[in-house]
This record gives sequence, structure tokens and C-alpha cells, in this order.
Amino acid sequence: MSRGILLVVSAPSAGGKGTILGELFNRDGNLRMSVSATTRRPREGEEHGKHYYFISREEFRGLIDSGSMLEYAEYVGNLYGTPRGPVEQWLSEGHDVVLEIEVQGGAQIKKLAPDCVSVFITPPSMEVLEKRLRGRGTENEETIRKRLETARRELPQAENYDYVVINDRLEDAVDDMQAILRSEKLRYMRDPDFIKGLLAGPKA
Ligand code: 5GP
Repeated sequence: MSRGILLVVSAPSAGGKGTILGELFNRDGNLRMSVSATTRRPREGEEHGKHYYFISREEFRGLIDSGSMLEYAEYVGNLYGTPRGPVEQWLSEGHDVVLEIEVQGGAQIKKLAPDCVSVFITPPSMEVLEKRLRGRGTENEETIRKRLETARRELPQAENYDYVVINDRLEDAVDDMQAILRSEKLRYMRDPDFIKGLLAGPKA
């Protein structure tokens, strides 16, 4: 069994990545989603252990110090990080693992695991992004403004990602994500032993 693919997915806040990933998970039973830890307060409807592990700054620092975080970053005043254990276990079991993280974390993972596959999801326009951010109705004006500013800073980082998926029509964006995963699985380097095995097997 070959090792799974580590898929790093980043997008500006409210870029629609949650919806795309939700649909991708409906279609692909081999995928696993890493649950991050954060010091941010839960939004309405968010559950501890499902959407995030909501922890204090002290607890977060403890996890960094014990080497339990694969990566972490500060984003709009809160800490976010990927717990190492589940990701390593799933990959070794052959599952593909999605890290839905912001760009500083994405850069850390690319350094740590150069064979990861990174995808940047963009809105079709800034107007659409702002509309989605407001439509969510979970943030106050100050936070919306901060998140839009952050999005403007984040968008140029798309150049550091392997792929860009434009989130215009949901179906198309999910098809694109599946196409990326499928192509990446066919890379020679993901399973170099396969060809060697063919040659070592019985002669035709
Ligand atoms: P939100 O507060 O909207 O849930 O997330 C804010 C940003 O933090 C999003 O861009 C999200 O992708 C990112 N994020 C979530 N979990 C992690 C993580 O474990 N590490 C990093 N670096 N970013 C994360």
C-alpha cells in the first residue's frame, strides 16, 4: 500500500473552501481531514474536536513545546496549528489527508514535506469574496475589514502553490480538486517500486 498524499489547501477567508472540501469528502471516502487546534473562540455551531480543538494560548504553547504541532501560525490575532499525530498515522495507512490552513502554515508544510500537494482556492473576484464574507453573518465589521485586508495580502501567495482552483461553480471546483488528486497519484515518484516490481515479476 502506498503512502497517502498530503493535500494543503489554502484560500482567503470565506473563499468558499469549506463548501468545496465538504463536497470533495462526500465523493472520496479515502480522504481524511486534519482537525486543527486554535485559540480562537468557537463560532456558533462549531464543535470542539470536530471543527477545531478550541484551546487556550497556554495549552497551545505546550503543544508547540512538546513538538506535537506539524506547523502553526498566528492569523488575525489567534493561533492555529495542525496536530502531528493523526496526520502521520493516516498518511502511513494510505489515506490522503487534507490540511485546510492559511499561507504561512502552507509554506512550513512545503518545506517539511516537499512531496505534499498544495492547492490555492480563489474567489472569482474580490466583490464575490466580500459578499460571501458578509453573507456569512458571523463576523463584525471590524473583523470583516481585517479579513478582507488579509485576503488581499494572501492572494499573491498563490504563486507558491502547485495549483490554483477558481471557486466559481461548485461542481467545477470539486471536479478540479479530484482531477488534481487523481493526477498526483499517477506521478512516477509516488510509487517507483511498481515498475521495478513489474520487471522483477514473471516474464511474459
Ligand atoms: P477561521 O478562523 O476562519 O476558521 O480560520 C482562519 C484561517 O486559519 C483560515 O485561513 C484557515 O485555513 C486557517 N487555519 C485553520 N487551521 C489552521 C492550522 O492548523 N494551521 C494554519 N497555519 N492555519 C489554519
